Amino acid sequence: MMPISSVESGRAHQAASSIALETASPFAEQACLVAEELDAAVQRFSQFLQFRTVSSPLVPHHTVEPDEFRRLHEWMPTAFPEVWETLEVEEVGDGNLSYLLKWTGTAEVKQQRRQQHRQQQQQQQPVLTEEEEELDAAGQPLLPVLFLSHLDVVPVANETLANWTHPPFSGAVAGGYVWGRGALDDKVGVAGLLEAATLLIRTGWRPLRTLYFAFGQDEEVGGGMGAAQIAALLASRGVKVDMVFDEGGSIGADGYPPYSTRPVALVGLAEKGYATILVQVSAAGGHSSIPPLDGSSAAAVAARIVTAINRRPPPARLVAPVTQFLSAIAPSTPGLRGQLFSVAASPLAPDWLRDLVAGAFLGRDTPETAALIRDTAAVTGLTLGFADNVLPPSATVRVNFRLLPGSTVQDVIDYLTEVAGPDLPHVRFEMNGSQNGSQATPVTPASSPYFAQLKAAVQQVYLLKDGSGSVDVAPTLMAGGTDSKHYLRISAGGALRHVPVSLNKTAGDVRRVHGLNERVSVADFGRGVCVFQRLLQLVGGGGSRSA
Ligand SMILES: [Zn+2]
Repeated sequence: MMPISSVESGRAHQAASSIALETASPFAEQACLVAEELDAAVQRFSQFLQFRTVSSPLVPHHTVEPDEFRRLHEWMPTAFPEVWETLEVEEVGDGNLSYLLKWTGTAEVKQQRRQQHRQQQQQQQPVLTEEEEELDAAGQPLLPVLFLSHLDVVPVANETLANWTHPPFSGAVAGGYVWGRGALDDKVGVAGLLEAATLLIRTGWRPLRTLYFAFGQDEEVGGGMGAAQIAALLASRGVKVDMVFDEGGSIGADGYPPYSTRPVALVGLAEKGYATILVQVSAAGGHSSIPPLDGSSAAAVAARIVTAINRRPPPARLVAPVTQFLSAIAPSTPGLRGQLFSVAASPLAPDWLRDLVAGAFLGRDTPETAALIRDTAAVTGLTLGFADNVLPPSATVRVNFRLLPGSTVQDVIDYLTEVAGPDLPHVRFEMNGSQNGSQATPVTPASSPYFAQLKAAVQQVYLLKDGSGSVDVAPTLMAGGTDSKHYLRISAGGALRHVPVSLNKTAGDVRRVHGLNERVSVADFGRGVCVFQRLLQLVGGGGSRSA
């Protein structure tokens, strides 16, 4: 892959001073920001991290401190004045705490003008020539594309406060990193997009295709007050988008342990489904001084069910997009695993081989790889008993499932039925509260031109320092959920989920997400901005000409 431009790559040297302390990174420095631009962007990011935008499902607007959000909304236009002047900015969502930004494409402006012209001319001339109409490959007018991120962050556990190297809402810039809750998840997405747009506006660039940015206020608690409302607003306006880009897979600086050591960027093509089932156990109860001899107490039944779930998790299955993940990482995975991965990923692979790779390798290697090949079952609650001397008449085991593409809630009920075995007469299964469960999202095709554009943007920026080319890019399945699910009904092409910053799994970086000492390196922040800048250019088309 070529650098963005040979002229710009010389600027990277000027930026070197501010990143000198980053721990060994395999990546070359970014080349789209000069040192002063990177410093200014880092200062803005530091300020952004200082707003305590913690979300919670239990409070109005899903916002623990609404005043912090309001202060953030006062700060935003001052931090990104070019964006606020150039794009249409709306405060949306519950309490108007989320954002919807529209960067009208030059193609849309022309279309509107043509329509006005047609209306004026209708009486005299029946048809106008369709000169210069911007169309996509299928001959349709260009649909907008939507970029998502979120303003909210998860809380910081009080008992861990003392263990943060820098306080979680300090936005400290130290040791080559920007520290704070949201540095990775996902204020880096908001800041990255706004910095990238700012850079492009300064060069006079305008998109051909209309671009939307939507930043929700409560992604971490489901997006009901932010993303869901923004999606409904866009739908009510008849907006249909061609693709949604959202947070998701990051870049493995140390590859994909324990398989590949070659740096790889993961792009989520689908999200797993979600269902929480309560296993309600009934028992005879009675006096604790005379416990039953046959293991029929509520505690014994509940314990057997928990043990069975741990011993016999739901069956392993190899399905898309995990097959695509395997075929992407197979070439850099040494030994037998690499060979088996590449054969198992082929559509012609025999079932026994797929089952072997899923069950014997992915299913056992790490919790992350195991989550790729099965409906995961996690016991997240266990309730029984109310007094020292009473045998409980009931127990509840709460089991949270994440469903593979193709799995249904009935599949997990069938699994629990088997798990209960001889205890089945004493249990019944209930969906948790008002939740109906959700199936996995459809799988966005890796053949989408937007996947190719995202891959190109990532590979043009994340060049390997050792001269061996660029980071690999691999499709994957997201184990957790993102805001993008709310927008799928208005997206013709589905969603692609990626956050262009790197994590080093071996060094324990993954635990920083939602955990202690969340931080992003200054160098990665710069690279992230450059990936977004390149992606906006590739997706938006267009150039510096005016409409
Ligand atoms: Zn997030």
